[in-house]
Amino acid sequence: MLTATDLQFDRDHLWHPYTSITEPLPVYAVKQADGCQLELEDGRKLLDGMSSWWAVHGYNHPELNQAMVNQMHKMSHVMFGGLTHQPAIELGQLLVDLTPAGLEYCFLCDSGSIAVEVAMKMAIQYQLGSNRPHKSNFLTVRNGYHGDTFGAMSVCDPDNGMHHHFSTTLAKQFFVPAPQSRYADQYDPTDTAELEKVLAEHAASIAAVIIEPVVQGAGGMRFYHTSYLIKLRQLCDQHNVLLIFDEIATGFGRTGKLFAAEHAGISPDIMCVGKALTGGYMTLAATLSSKKVALAVADKEHGPGVFMHGPTFMGNPLACAVACASIKLLTSYNWQEKVKIIETALKVGLAPAASISGVADVRCLGAIGVIELEQPVDMAAMVERFVQRGIWMRPFGKLVYCMPPFTISNDELTRLTAAMVATVAEECAA
Ligand SMILES: *Cc1c(COP(=O)(O)O)cnc(C)c1O
Repeated sequence: MLTATDLQFDRDHLWHPYTSITEPLPVYAVKQADGCQLELEDGRKLLDGMSSWWAVHGYNHPELNQAMVNQMHKMSHVMFGGLTHQPAIELGQLLVDLTPAGLEYCFLCDSGSIAVEVAMKMAIQYQLGSNRPHKSNFLTVRNGYHGDTFGAMSVCDPDNGMHHHFSTTLAKQFFVPAPQSRYADQYDPTDTAELEKVLAEHAASIAAVIIEPVVQGAGGMRFYHTSYLIKLRQLCDQHNVLLIFDEIATGFGRTGKLFAAEHAGISPDIMCVGKALTGGYMTLAATLSSKKVALAVADKEHGPGVFMHGPTFMGNPLACAVACASIKLLTSYNWQEKVKIIETALKVGLAPAASISGVADVRCLGAIGVIELEQPVDMAAMVERFVQRGIWMRPFGKLVYCMPPFTISNDELTRLTAAMVATVAEECAA
């Protein structure tokens, strides 16, 4: 049991994501977590609407636990420089097999942000190896989020990201407006007008376009039209610019397809996965690439001839073992059907929010449900309202959104959506 002194230590000495040491936000201490439920130290039980930030199978899953225990008894870690092992090989096979066609090479790394750094370095080395050394910048759309490290930050939204605070250090990239045609609406072909213009003018200095396919996550929870991606693929090919898909949030079934690229029926040249990769158990991510990219990276005439990255914990066996177990668990049942059921329940359950004054939009795709307000919410106050209803949610900006574990029951979905609508109604009336 944590004491008041322990919690005071947390407030005084531990940084949580995006917090201040002098004005810490409230934190809730978790004692145990099982399935879709978090149990707090004080005994309160919360239904998890966030899947531990985009995981899929819920907490304390017996099969994932077993996979880790089994691997732990063999080896938890060995270096990946000069050594290899079964969990890394099996994970590589699964990823090459399941990701969109043409992605054949796999780089295992530590976190989503690092997977993005790796993707960006690969794109630059691809252009170097192809004797196009001036193609070393990136183009992206606004409202993107790709992580918190410097390369990743440089392609996050320049306004709602962290650009202005780090502007003297950040690489300058090219930004075009975010796609405006919504996922389920009519496509407006002028959506790519600015993109076409910037590529026509600056392709000589652009290595790759990086984008979150179909769902823009932390940069606004926007769902956009697949025709945009199909056109983007054509434009990239036309200008010798690589296409990088950041599927760190969308991967592993969240949008209703195993990977969001499948909605558009196209393959990127490079793809990043993370978050749900290990079912939330361990920090691990991967960057996949095509043969074309891998071969140019290997070019010794114009480039270094090897891919210049190699983290200490690359291919960690425990992380790889639980990732294999998580992927096999996901593909062992009819998860598409389950995500459909969740999508329908979210649509039905959140629909009443649309008529609340102060709500700008309600949208759902796959196992993601979003209520967008007209004004930013007071996050701490709203989290507390949710906790009082027995729900774990973490709204940000104007967005109150959920991405429940795929193991959630119909009753729990009803509770979750009812609590979202009621809490938003309270917030808007306040
Ligand atoms: C979370 C996220 C990242 C960063 O991943 P970390 O593991 O937090 O470094 C990058 N891109 C997208 C789309 C994400 O959702």
